[in-house]
Amino acid sequence: MHELSIVMSIIEIAEENAKKENASVINEIELDIGKQAGVVMEALEFAIESAKVGTMLEKAEWVVNEIPALARCSSCGHEFETGDLFTPCPKCSNPFSDIYQGRELRVKSLKVE
Ligand SMILES: [Zn+2]
Repeated sequence: MHELSIVMSIIEIAEENAKKENASVINEIELDIGKQAGVVMEALEFAIESAKVGTMLEKAEWVVNEIPALARCSSCGHEFETGDLFTPCPKCSNPFSDIYQGRELRVKSLKVE
């Protein structure tokens, strides 16, 4: 389950940042997770529940923003929300498009004390 390793590295990044601020508790963490980031949300939530125990994030509020996947058609330039890599352009049916949003996997913000 790679969601667990993702969550563990998120926790590591968050704790490092909190320590730089001389904080001991993280109250809230906000994540941006793209729908094309390869993360299963249910697995992510499960991983958070088990990985946060004993960390500075144990009592934190976890806010997860799901970022929709947006693609730009390589033929006509039309922009559309895509479900997967092989969704054809709804305008011209060209199967080739570039996903320019939706692969995000980052810590957006932290609230510490
Ligand atoms: Zn097109």
